[in-house]
Amino acid sequence: MDIYSGHINKLIEELSRLPGVGAKSAQRLAFHIINMPRIEVEGIANAMLDAKDNVRYCKECFTLTDEEICPICRDQKRNHKVIMVVEQTRDMAAYEKTGKYDGVYHVLHGAISPMLGIGPGDIKLKELMIRLQGDVDEVIIATNSNLEGETTAMYISKMIKQAGIKVTRIASGVPVGGDLEYIDEVTLLRALDGRTEL
Ligand code: ZN
Repeated sequence: MDIYSGHINKLIEELSRLPGVGAKSAQRLAFHIINMPRIEVEGIANAMLDAKDNVRYCKECFTLTDEEICPICRDQKRNHKVIMVVEQTRDMAAYEKTGKYDGVYHVLHGAISPMLGIGPGDIKLKELMIRLQGDVDEVIIATNSNLEGETTAMYISKMIKQAGIKVTRIASGVPVGGDLEYIDEVTLLRALDGRTEL
């Protein structure tokens, strides 16, 4: 027998689909939402739909943006010949927060993971290769330092070296298995400065 009404159960079920939200958190969130003023609940629901409807991939770097070309790719003061490859838009945000990197990015939206059945064709690698046909001096691989990130880095470096472009990997000052977004700015800058050629 269900303890809660169907509507509450449905809300709990939907919330527990979110990453990092277990059954208990989903319950807590559901009751919190039910007790919120309607206008605030509408605010959350509308923000979700707005983001979903209006956010798209930047045509150049594939980060998530509101515009066709993101502000970083549009910025002519940045060095467009240096491309840093990251797994997620939030990794790019972490490097941007340091304010010290003046190249551009390429967002893969994932990493190669044979275990999860994610292959090279499932992330934005083809798109990276197309960009490399332009004028590029260096590709900095800043994927995470876990198994998937390293596998992806090796794959990219093999691919790019054939094109005769310099490939570097950020230093392993980044803790193994560490998601880039959780690492402080000093560590990120050290990892960037200490990058080595592959
Ligand atoms: Zn962009």
